[in-house]
Amino acid sequence: MTIEGNGRVPSKGASGSRGENRVWTVLDLLRWTTKHFSEQGLETPRLDAELLLAHALGLERLTLYLQFDKPVESGERSAFRELIRRRVSERVPISLLLGQREFWSRSFRVTEDVLTPRPDTETLVEAALEVIRQASPRSCRVLDLGTGSGAIGISLAAECPEAQVTATDICPKALQIAQRNADELQVSENIRFLQGDLFGPIGAETFDLIVSNPPYLARSESGGLAPELSHEPEQALFGGPDGYAVLRPFAAGVGERMEPGGWVGVEIDPGQADVVAGWFAEAGLCEIDILNDLAGRPRVVSARKKTAT
Ligand code: GLN
Repeated sequence: MTIEGNGRVPSKGASGSRGENRVWTVLDLLRWTTKHFSEQGLETPRLDAELLLAHALGLERLTLYLQFDKPVESGERSAFRELIRRRVSERVPISLLLGQREFWSRSFRVTEDVLTPRPDTETLVEAALEVIRQASPRSCRVLDLGTGSGAIGISLAAECPEAQVTATDICPKALQIAQRNADELQVSENIRFLQGDLFGPIGAETFDLIVSNPPYLARSESGGLAPELSHEPEQALFGGPDGYAVLRPFAAGVGERMEPGGWVGVEIDPGQADVVAGWFAEAGLCEIDILNDLAGRPRVVSARKKTAT
């Protein structure tokens, strides 16, 4: 397929020699956009094209496959064109163009005020659910520290209605999104949100299970990161120059906030696993474990607090 104009996105009926009334079908647009995205170096060109076209047309992505021959009207094409432009020239991530991201099979609303939930973080949810399901009684008190969109805390609250989840964040705007996600996913009954830094908002309370996906990227390595990250909150991504600004006090202080026999799981960058495991050991925690994500990289460090003797 030839690209209209100077490589511009298919616009209102092709102008010039191809005639005013060029019909663009769903399949034409997917092919054109996939090629364009791939030339622009996007990692998942076809998937991105499908998600954005489905969004512009108000359809589910897989429904596109039933409508390949359907002509797309110029109004819909211009909405689609704008999404393509923002994806390519501003590198806005798909999650922010769509305003939502699936996590643990639920749809979470996301904005630039929260970290978009990553599939990597499902490793932590899976491990925490395993611990809750083996606990008896199951009515455990859970803390999700630095909840962002609420992805981890809300997933646990939804999967374990007996659990009482406390979710904190330093950023009030993030908590608004998290609260809205909790309302929309109908878990408001067993989750509460508190604003503040690290352990500040919880006072002297202790928990049976503590999970966190803190900011852990090293600012010193930010030069090599994907341009898409510039659309997410720095506060949720970067843990100071070495990446440990939050992990360090977290590892040192988490034991005091745990019930005897309680469990903690924290997400880390693969290269940080041994350091954080070492800090957990220094803090007197036991059963220290490093869990891999689906790509086989270390992603979560977990531990328990010794039971009282
Ligand atoms: N895993 C995220 C990334 O690499 C970072 C998340 C975080 O800092 N907690 O994009």
